[in-house]
Amino acid sequence: MNRLEGNVTLVTGGSRGIGAAVALRLAEEGADVALTYESNATCATDVVEQIKAIGRRALAVQADSAAPEALTAAVNETVATFGALDILVNNAGVFLVGPLEDVGPAEIDRTLTVNVRAPFVTSQAAVRHMGEGGRIISIGSNMAERAVFPGMALYSMSKTALVGMTKGLARELGPRGITVNLVHPGPTDTDANPAHGPNAGTIAGFTALGRYAEAAEIAATVAHLASSDGQYITGATINVDGGFTA
Ligand code: NDP
Repeated sequence: MNRLEGNVTLVTGGSRGIGAAVALRLAEEGADVALTYESNATCATDVVEQIKAIGRRALAVQADSAAPEALTAAVNETVATFGALDILVNNAGVFLVGPLEDVGPAEIDRTLTVNVRAPFVTSQAAVRHMGEGGRIISIGSNMAERAVFPGMALYSMSKTALVGMTKGLARELGPRGITVNLVHPGPTDTDANPAHGPNAGTIAGFTALGRYAEAAEIAATVAHLASSDGQYITGATINVDGGFTA
């Protein structure tokens, strides 16, 4: 499928996990892809090489999502390199959990800057370059709707904020032909939440399908939203969670 031929994408946190799967899927569908990473240059370079191997242009940019100026610079470098920006995927996130009394200001700040401020700031920078058909897709979490374990309040709060951002931006950018959507993955096999980790059996049991997702299953929905097939979807939150919230 070449649904994204001629499009330029920026994926935050594209060096591993869901972000890497999204970067590769969008490239397979024809897009050129820039991706950011925090510290793992080796993995970022590996994803870039995989994208080039399927015939698309690719770029890795080190950019800590906690730093607004780094995100704006990543957007500008994407446009300077590829000449456009059509699709933004706000994926990078941190998962800091713990009992309420133990969560300190540093964890609160890190979670809110990376999970909430970063998608907002990156969207601000990106829409300066987007025209009709532009796409903003954020990766939220099933935990925004169902905080199944104690200690999830900070993370759940941060991901719930993206629902409001998505609805607000959909209204604001709809007249410009830009759609804005949110994907809520369920438990997905990544370094952050390995399918064979200590609590994986319990977590998988919360889903209707009784298993973890592969990152590629999340990427498939992102690709749909990014393509013209998803052009009438905006302001939506789509659960790709195996029935976790059913
Ligand atoms: P991983 O830990 O596997 O990968 C995280 C990616 O984000 C890496 O590329 C990492 O870069 C990057 N990243 C992390 N922090 C920053 C930062 N401050 N600045 C820039 N890049 C950063 O995570 P997942 O793939 O599991 O998660 C991706 C998204 O999906 C997150 O938003 C998460 O909340 C969400 N999610 C995940 C679920 C799951 O079960 N896995 C379930 C629901 C939602 P580097 O390689 O340099 O470290």
